[in-house]
Amino acid sequence: MSFSQSLTINDDIDAAAPEQQGELVLCRHCDLLQWLPPLQEGEQAHCQRCDHQLDVRQVQPILRPVLYAASALFMLLLANLFPFISMGVAGNRSEMHFFDTSAVLFTEYHQSLAILVWLFIQAVPAFCMAAVIYLKLGMLYRLPARIWVARVLFMLKPWSMVDIFLMGLLISFVKLVANADISLGLSFWAFCIFCLLHLRTFQVIDRHEMWSRLALAPKVPVTAEAGKTGLSQQLKLCPCCTAIVPLAQQHCPRCHTRVYPRVPASLQKTLALLVTAAVLYIPANLLPIMRTVSFGNVTDSTIISGFLLMWQDGEYPVALVILLASVVVPIAKILIMFWLCYLVLAPVAVRSKLTTRIYLLVDWVGRWSMVDVLVVAILAALVRFGLLMSVYPGVGALVFAAVVIITMLAAISFDPRLLWDQPARTGEQV
Ligand SMILES: [Zn+2]
Ligand SMILES: [Zn+2]
Repeated sequence: MSFSQSLTINDDIDAAAPEQQGELVLCRHCDLLQWLPPLQEGEQAHCQRCDHQLDVRQVQPILRPVLYAASALFMLLLANLFPFISMGVAGNRSEMHFFDTSAVLFTEYHQSLAILVWLFIQAVPAFCMAAVIYLKLGMLYRLPARIWVARVLFMLKPWSMVDIFLMGLLISFVKLVANADISLGLSFWAFCIFCLLHLRTFQVIDRHEMWSRLALAPKVPVTAEAGKTGLSQQLKLCPCCTAIVPLAQQHCPRCHTRVYPRVPASLQKTLALLVTAAVLYIPANLLPIMRTVSFGNVTDSTIISGFLLMWQDGEYPVALVILLASVVVPIAKILIMFWLCYLVLAPVAVRSKLTTRIYLLVDWVGRWSMVDVLVVAILAALVRFGLLMSVYPGVGALVFAAVVIITMLAAISFDPRLLWDQPARTGEQV
């Protein structure tokens, strides 16, 4: 593909010669400087080299996110007000509220796990929704501290795990339904709607678009030339607000973030985190993830024994989800991240859209491994019948949560632009 080729735009918009009206943008995944033509509502533009989405022009960019986020917050409030799930075993009944998932862990001496669960399913999602409302209204009414709120919003976005919690709930139901009578409370349905609205809110906001409405982007030097990398022209990308910043300038003039040409010590940090995650993955599998008391019998179960139990019970789909989320995804993520680091160090660059896509997929899928930890939190909050039937979280759950968090940090530390920095093989497309 040549650099003069137009950007990939849906709806067959002709983007030839956009220099007259468009703006110059730097791709965050391959560092290519290119012209972004003015978009119509509903259109999106992709990088011509790595296919990363550069910008989306949303339909009703203020009203829709505010409505979705406000409805989501209302549903989260409802999810906390009423009973979430109730469970009956041999004439006894236990009722769980949404907040109990972290509160029970806290009282059962697993404070760090409790705080993590509370952050992932309550605090971070609530903050994100409130931040979207604040920022969108801030565009109309010039509210203070919008820049800081926007910075925190995009930093916290990957740590909002309500969708994973919903998957955890479904797995917990399948685990329990054979032994107990489960009934769903009003808050459960409110939480499901909250989950959908929360996902939809993030679908209708775009980082580049939001920042361009929040504050003016700094001027790009007139010498900047599309079709070359930013680094080769002494330019760098602000990772927070997507502004183009001269190499000599330390901080982004728009969002005040410290800007580096590449993530500092990216490979060293990524490799160190990957090695830590790989080492911790061993005790995470050997230590019990939860302790089950059933009619006086105490059983400790690890991730693998939990999978085998579900498989023996004939719950194949759930067993496969557990295997995929807790075994296949973490191992694959660690191995693929090692491979990407190797590609950066390899003497001949193997750069393609595919490697960037693999990185993005690994980055996205990694957080789903948290599902087993959330299942433990749900079961511990719900199954509380003393010696008759009880579930207690094991130390393995905390170690496994650490593995997932460390692999997520490894993916964040990895700079995908390094894959495109090396000279290409002779004849290779750029
Ligand atoms: Zn790109
Ligand atoms: Zn910035």
